[in-house]
Amino acid sequence: MPAHLDPRAPLVLDTRELPRSPGAMREVRRSAQAPGDLGVELISVPAGAELALDLRLQSVSEGVLVSGSVTAPVEGECGRCLRPISDTVVVDLAELYAYPDSTTAETTDEEEVSRLEGDLLDLEPALRDAVVLALPTNPVCRADCPGLCSECGVHWDDLPDDHSHEAVDPRWAALGKIKASEE
Ligand SMILES: [Zn+2]
Ligand SMILES: [Zn+2]
Repeated sequence: MPAHLDPRAPLVLDTRELPRSPGAMREVRRSAQAPGDLGVELISVPAGAELALDLRLQSVSEGVLVSGSVTAPVEGECGRCLRPISDTVVVDLAELYAYPDSTTAETTDEEEVSRLEGDLLDLEPALRDAVVLALPTNPVCRADCPGLCSECGVHWDDLPDDHSHEAVDPRWAALGKIKASEE
């Protein structure tokens, strides 16, 4: 059994206002603080950032169906040039929370179908899955980011087109010096 849900937790929704008759519906539009660790290694929702919930809670015979979207700011680092990325992600949710005594709850695993706990449901696991799916594993600051020169680490945007680190043959270098002194 998971730990009991805290009704004050930002992503725990109370369904008390929702009549337990199939078809009944309530809208939930509010903001909530993002939990920590929401995202992937290179890009994630900052802990404590404001999430905008735009959800519908619908009574169905087996439980409560939650659908809608959550908008969240994301911050990360470009995988090619390490520049910071700030963006917004909008994820769609559609998750059934089964009544603990429903046939669905009796015939499925808690891993497969979420459960209501009393009148409470925890949006966090579903949101976590949706955010991870929506975020790129290799985020880039822009699609054509050229990255950094592997020799000097300077962004290719800031380097001339002919930038290179090809070792100059010392004899040519000497010649260059002579030419320079002649001028
Ligand atoms: Zn970049
Ligand atoms: Zn370089």
